[in-house]
Amino acid sequence: MQNLDSCYALLGLRRGASQEEARSAFHRRVEQLYTDGAGPDTAARLQALAEAYSRLEVASMGPDAAVSPSPAPRWLWRLSGHLSSALACGGVRLLSDGTVELRLEEDEALTGGVAMLSFDADIVCRRCTGTPGAGCERCAGSGRERERVSFWISIPARVANGTVLHPSIAPLELARPIDFVVRISAPA
Ligand SMILES: [Zn+2]
Repeated sequence: MQNLDSCYALLGLRRGASQEEARSAFHRRVEQLYTDGAGPDTAARLQALAEAYSRLEVASMGPDAAVSPSPAPRWLWRLSGHLSSALACGGVRLLSDGTVELRLEEDEALTGGVAMLSFDADIVCRRCTGTPGAGCERCAGSGRERERVSFWISIPARVANGTVLHPSIAPLELARPIDFVVRISAPA
């Protein structure tokens, strides 16, 4: 169990930093992990970051929340993995406007959590950085290339139906931004 001081330290924050600062620090650190490239300890480091972030988030809700049992970071495995498997199990749905619907159970919406999705997406060509007419061999002048990308989506606790979330990291510039919209399903 991490105490609050170590949570701040892990995220490189001074004690008492705002929730907004914690949020952007969390995103920066996760992004850095991806920039560094995946290693054997990447999953553990991601987990530690998410734990620290979620502890600070709970602490920011006030003393009542702080004394309640610390929530373990909730990994929404149902909504994680390759997009095709998340689609197959109904955890996500592609809408006609290109938005991805995250279908949360009521308890998942209450606790929030972290989902990781990967899929093959168009990214901006890394050689010509998408400059039109550059005569780039890598992308045949299209300015785009296709690559498997992975990112985390941080779902805040008590998220409201219809909330639009953005991927917490984009390891490479996506050719087109992807929005995720929360859809909370009523209990059966
Ligand atoms: Zn190119």
